[in-house]
Amino acid sequence: MTDEAMQGFREWYGRQPTGVWSAPGRVNLIGEHTDYNDGYVFPFAIEQRTAVALGDRDDRVIRVSSSFAADPVQIHLDELAPDAVEGWSAYPLGVAWALGEFGADLEHVRGVDLHVTSTVPIGAGLSSSAAIESAVALALDEHWGLGFDRPTLAKVGRLAENRVVGAPTGIMDQSASLLSEADAGVFLDCRSLDAEVIPLGFTADGLSLLVIDTRVEHAHATGGYAARRASCEAGAHALGVESLRELGSHDLERAAEVLDDETFRRVRHVVTENQRVLDTVRTLREQGPGAIGPLLDASHVSMRDDFEISVPELDLAVATAQAHGAIGARMTGGGFGGSAIALMVDALVPVVTREVLAAFAERGFREPIVFPVRPSQGARRDA
Ligand code: ADP
Ligand code: MG
Repeated sequence: MTDEAMQGFREWYGRQPTGVWSAPGRVNLIGEHTDYNDGYVFPFAIEQRTAVALGDRDDRVIRVSSSFAADPVQIHLDELAPDAVEGWSAYPLGVAWALGEFGADLEHVRGVDLHVTSTVPIGAGLSSSAAIESAVALALDEHWGLGFDRPTLAKVGRLAENRVVGAPTGIMDQSASLLSEADAGVFLDCRSLDAEVIPLGFTADGLSLLVIDTRVEHAHATGGYAARRASCEAGAHALGVESLRELGSHDLERAAEVLDDETFRRVRHVVTENQRVLDTVRTLREQGPGAIGPLLDASHVSMRDDFEISVPELDLAVATAQAHGAIGARMTGGGFGGSAIALMVDALVPVVTREVLAAFAERGFREPIVFPVRPSQGARRDA
């Protein structure tokens, strides 16, 4: 990947880059629809990465090219603004703009040429967007000598995505991409933004995590997401709290009395899911990864029945993995399609893969893409 980025840079710009940086995609182990409720999430970085080769320029132009896009895009540093960039270049150039918003003195830096290559599948729910943002953020920070810490670079990536790309996402993806370490996950408090690296121990215990990408994309995903956010806000308002994060399981009895049935079930998902993230961290510390299965399973049931964001393909993926010996399984991501994850002993990977493919074929569902992911190191300089 480093070589590809360097070679692509040479082909586009006709000289050697001065360095290569990379950042990974991510999978969320547990903690779904908790981020915008100020709660907890627990993602980890995967092996698939996005690399950025960088070369110095004498003027104040930034140019970006990507193996994913036909043409390079360029802009003068003085012209960087949220509305001045569009398409895929909004991610890397948005990061350059956002660094300025966080106090970088962009008036006194020289321009750069950037070339991007990636092994993170795009639009598959593995956050290729955070991977490109984080790789570019780290590259520009180090090249320009800005000295931002990684939690700040995560906020830079989020600002680029919110303001320049225009996607109302949280801080989870960038935090996973920038803060993860090998065979560990990032336990993130979305209210304080405190992040703690927690060893997962999958490798030591001979466990694999399989992603089952159902390739289902539901047209109502955006509307469904907005409706769930609105329910959570309504629930918090009716219960007199700033966010659902402030509630615990002891509040659910009162919630059941105050709220209508649907809002109550939305609230119950968020409250119990926050608890499951805390329980997952504690279980990993006290018993190891082989004991977190019931928490993954319960998370899925909660999303299926209380939050109602699953689809038949996700339910089938989870049920099939469970029936063939997975330690635990759940849908991951925003719902209405996307991927499921299943934790299992290494030897079961071919078995579960085969059985999931067979079950989908039998039901007449589109063939899913099934592949293992390994918790990996976050953003770094590679060359
Ligand atoms: P996801 O983050 O789930 O992969 P998003 O829609 O959030 O999906 O982000 C995908 C978008 O990010 C792409 O459509 C493209 O604009 C941009 N992007 C991601 N990776 C690259 C890349 N390697 N080169 C250029 N653009 C990229
Ligand atoms: Mg994304």
